[in-house]
This record gives sequence, C-alpha cells and structure tokens, in this order.
Amino acid sequence: MPFLDSLFAPFRKKRELLIQSYAKTLDSYFPYYKRLQPEGRKVFIERILHFRKSKSFHFLEMEKSADIEVLVSAAAVQLTFGLPEYNYGFFEDIYIIKGAYTYGASTTPWAGHVNHQGIHVAWDHVLKGYVLETDGYNVGLHEMAHAFEYELVFGDYAFDHILKSRFYAVSIAIRDHVIDQPWHLAELYSPQGLSNNHECWAESVELFFEKPAKLKEYYPGLFSTIAELLQQDPLQGKMEEATASYLS
Ligand SMILES: [Zn+2]
Repeated sequence: MPFLDSLFAPFRKKRELLIQSYAKTLDSYFPYYKRLQPEGRKVFIERILHFRKSKSFHFLEMEKSADIEVLVSAAAVQLTFGLPEYNYGFFEDIYIIKGAYTYGASTTPWAGHVNHQGIHVAWDHVLKGYVLETDGYNVGLHEMAHAFEYELVFGDYAFDHILKSRFYAVSIAIRDHVIDQPWHLAELYSPQGLSNNHECWAESVELFFEKPAKLKEYYPGLFSTIAELLQQDPLQGKMEEATASYLS
C-alpha cells in the first residue's frame, strides 16, 4: 500500500536513525553488546528502544544525555536478555545523578539505590563499571539486580511462578554457599555483599557477568542457579540461543 508506506516513512526513518545512533553508542561503550551476533544485537537494540520509551529519566546535577539513557537502559536489558519479559514495569522513573550522593540519614556516599520511587544511579560509577568489564564492579547491573527483585514482588514477574521458584533456588544458594560461609577462600564479595541476601544477589549478578569463570569455579551451585534463572551463560554464549527462541 503505497499511500500507507509514504505515511509511515518519516517514522521509519526516525526509528532507523535512532537504531543507528544506539548501535554506535553501544559499540563504543558496551562490551556485552559487542559480543552478540548481528541477530542478537538487533533484539538488544529493540529492547532498549522499548525500555527507554517506557521510562522517565531524570538527570540531577547534570545535563540530560541520550547516550546515558541508552547505556543505563542497556544494563537493564543485559540482565534480562534471556527472558521474554524485560520492561521492569513496576518502575517508571530512573534518576541519574552526576556522582556518588548521600541519601536519607546515611553519611556514606552511595553509587546507587532502588526504592519504590525509582532506580537511582550515580553516572560516574556506572561509567566506571562499563570501562573495565572484568573487575566485577558494575553499578548498572547491581542496581538493575535490585530492581529485578522488586519486579518479582510487585511487577510482572510476580505472576511468573517458574521464575520465582528459580529465584528462590538462587536465594538458597546465596544463603548456604556465600552468606553462611563468610570466610570463603575466593574473597569475591565485599563486606556489604556478605551483609544480607539482597546485597549478595546484586553482587552475584555483577560477578556472574564480569567474573563468570571465578564465580563458577568457587561457587558452582550458585553460578548454575543464576544461569538457570536468567537463561544466560556468559561462559558459553547461550545468550544467542536464548534470544533466538523469542525471535521465532
Ligand atoms: Zn546494593
């Protein structure tokens, strides 16, 4: 239908330009994206488009930036890339703060936090997390892991019983293999990560993506429950397979 084609052409053009600019940003700053095959990259960008559109981004003490919105969205998409549902529907607002900040009664600077009001991240810490992919430090993934837990209770995942039982298996592994073994030889976790299940889950996600071989070597049970939950295995490139199943 030529008439409809010409009617939608400007929208298609705009979308195409957006996709190109996302690809450029991700190619420069996001190693996870760079490792994907072309089909996986396409899906990754589609998901960022939807995710970004569904959220309101608020920039505090800094200028608004499309690139930063894309890169923060990319952490959310990375974490849930093996799953069909990826929109974190419970959250509408994402707050991006220039640097570490203090919150509430705490005098210790924070790199990020998640509560009912939204997802908060300090941009300089997020960026630091992306620069070195193998240091086990990634604030973007860390905060999205906290958001993931909210989704399991209040969001779309609350109705997904398979996902919830898989997360329960992760929680048991965290308690038995990490929290109850604080003097473990591996020393992969920070004192904060060992302080409770929620922080330990968030640090486990960072390690799962950034130090997968180490996590698997020292905590094989935990590694396999996370891989089962997220339907990804950073050591085996299963991301491609997982994604392919949603394309068909
Ligand atoms: Zn945390």
